[in-house]
Amino acid sequence: MADRNTVQKEIIHHTLCEMKNHPTAAMVYDRIHFSHPTISRSTVYRILARMAEEGKILRLDLAGCDSRYDGETMPHSHVRCRLCGAVADLPAVRVGWPAEDGGFLLEDCAVVYRGLCPACRRTE
Ligand SMILES: [Zn+2]
Ligand SMILES: [Zn+2]
Repeated sequence: MADRNTVQKEIIHHTLCEMKNHPTAAMVYDRIHFSHPTISRSTVYRILARMAEEGKILRLDLAGCDSRYDGETMPHSHVRCRLCGAVADLPAVRVGWPAEDGGFLLEDCAVVYRGLCPACRRTE
């Protein structure tokens, strides 16, 4: 029998992968709470943070909103709606390194486009 932590981790990972909207931890918890009321909010937050550290999922830290989580770990870019905050996947784009590194050790670069989502375009 798998231990409780492993089972919870699988449930949380599976739920995140089903949600294609790059949810916050709160959104993942709300969804899990519906089907698995015994899993606590702190467990969901803790396991999501740990899986992101381990590289099993992605954490997107976008300016002006709570961290979003993403079950899709293949390289890809994101687009965020400037009106409703919706985040969607886009194909990966290659970004070159800048001519100057400012003394930093550059490790990676995440591309986030901004714009209007289809729903907001219709109402704009
Ligand atoms: Zn929108
Ligand atoms: Zn994504």
